[in-house]
Amino acid sequence: MDLPLTGEPVALDLLNTLGNSPDGPVDHLTTVDALRAWLRAQAPRLPQPGADLTDADLVAVLDLREIVGTVVDHLRRGAEPPAPALRALSGADRLAPPYRTLSWEDNRLVVSAGRAGDYRSTLVATLAGAAIDLLSGPIASVRGCEGPGCRMLFLPAHPRRRWCSPELCGNRVRVARYYQRHK
Ligand SMILES: [Zn+2]
Repeated sequence: MDLPLTGEPVALDLLNTLGNSPDGPVDHLTTVDALRAWLRAQAPRLPQPGADLTDADLVAVLDLREIVGTVVDHLRRGAEPPAPALRALSGADRLAPPYRTLSWEDNRLVVSAGRAGDYRSTLVATLAGAAIDLLSGPIASVRGCEGPGCRMLFLPAHPRRRWCSPELCGNRVRVARYYQRHK
């Protein structure tokens, strides 16, 4: 099982679990084990599950991924997102209210953020909150990979970034160009 790319804002990482392989589109979140592996790769940005991660947790994450995908897709095209998707995303954010905890460590004040609720609510609400941060923040800077057929999204730290990953798409395109030239 290949892990999807991670390291973008968590809402984009979630959408990018619908990724690509040399054989075409792949969904990296088809099983509970796959979800567990993805969550582990997202530590400490997302709450980590216990042993009892369930199909219902997976379904909840996939539902949210679809909603976030719909809203991101509309905003990137400058279109009005469907009202039910906005309602669903707002509702997901409300599932587990955010709180902050203050502590004193190494001679300074440390603020840590969390969400109050059961694991599934906490996870879905954290993902929804991350999506809202993206949608109300840097959404206009989100770019799609220029690799042929690639559907990955990223937030370029460098204005010239064109690929989801230089190893995956950058190389694929360079190799294709090379063969084009030497045909
Ligand atoms: Zn790509």
